Amino acid sequence: MAKKLPTSLKVLGKTYQVKVVKPSSANTLLQEHDAAAGTSSSQDCLITLNANQCTEQMKDTLLHECIHMCDHTVGLDLSERQVHALAGCFQALLSDNPQLASFICSK
Ligand SMILES: [Zn+2]
Repeated sequence: MAKKLPTSLKVLGKTYQVKVVKPSSANTLLQEHDAAAGTSSSQDCLITLNANQCTEQMKDTLLHECIHMCDHTVGLDLSERQVHALAGCFQALLSDNPQLASFICSK
């Protein structure tokens, strides 16, 4: 199983670039969201992750941003709380059951 952070992800047909950035005055994306752990933009097809978080939090943040992009694409209008809860649930399911992703993705 891959342990490296992907540099791009396909979310419902769109390819998103994944960038890890250090929060700084030069980084307007993270500034706009009050030093958020991550941000995502369907317009730019970009997921930006704050470098100042541990690996486990980075995984949660990446999944969180992917759920935001799914939500945006299908128009569920999930709340931040719902996105946060779903990210935690999916991360736990996939972490606790590595065979689950393998089975679901098999053809
Ligand atoms: Zn969010």
